[in-house]
Amino acid sequence: MRDKIVAGNWKMNNTLDEGISLASEISNMVADEVMDDVKVVLCPPFIHLSSVSKIIEGTDKLYLGAQNCNDHTSGAYTGEISVDMLKSVGVQYVIIGHSERREYYGETNEFLMKKVDTALAAGLTPIFCCGESLEIREKGEHFDFVTNQLTESLFHLSADDFGKLVIAYEPIWAIGTGKTASKEQAQEMHEKLRAHIAGKYGEGVAEGISILYGGSCKPSNAAELFAQKDIDGGLIGGASLKSRDFVDIVKSF
Ligand code: PEP
Repeated sequence: MRDKIVAGNWKMNNTLDEGISLASEISNMVADEVMDDVKVVLCPPFIHLSSVSKIIEGTDKLYLGAQNCNDHTSGAYTGEISVDMLKSVGVQYVIIGHSERREYYGETNEFLMKKVDTALAAGLTPIFCCGESLEIREKGEHFDFVTNQLTESLFHLSADDFGKLVIAYEPIWAIGTGKTASKEQAQEMHEKLRAHIAGKYGEGVAEGISILYGGSCKPSNAAELFAQKDIDGGLIGGASLKSRDFVDIVKSF
């Protein structure tokens, strides 16, 4: 049985007080309403992590994730945050390779390989993001492009380490645009990714990996996406900032 996971990526939104309120609301709603066996990961900005950690401490469904980490473990990297710092405030997951970081901060497949290694070595679970632009999809190159992102950043890992990852397929054209991939488009890519993983690591590893969908996922479309056989949950941006919407997505399995 693969883990069902819904992760909320708050991005660069909310002051600390607002983040504390949002996390508290989500925590209460999840405790009262979520009966399903689902892992809910909150990924607030760095400065919220310590406070959100205290709010979710002792809950059984909520986990803490960071939106990024540095590829080095410590040292003279002004303004950066290390995996050990994240672990020291209770972080368990870390988003790596989000398309916004690839696009705005020049993160390449090769560079992301180092971040994945650093996160795994610290015992964090990477949520590794992949996904194509509209231009690539229109050229019909999306399957090759996305599978290549996995090959170049992840296929140096041992099967054991690969099995610790979570993958998030996030078509760039669907992120923050209100335009969701159809359930058929999402399922088709997830199936390709799982087959690609099976080709390298075997069916056992591929069947055990949770592959999340991300891109304008909301309460009105989450259920049909999560019902697809290769979609194991979602990475949620905009809708994770509203407690009611986010928890309704969590309840969509
Ligand atoms: C994201 O940025 O990871 C994301 C999926 O954003 P949104 O849900 O807003 O499209």
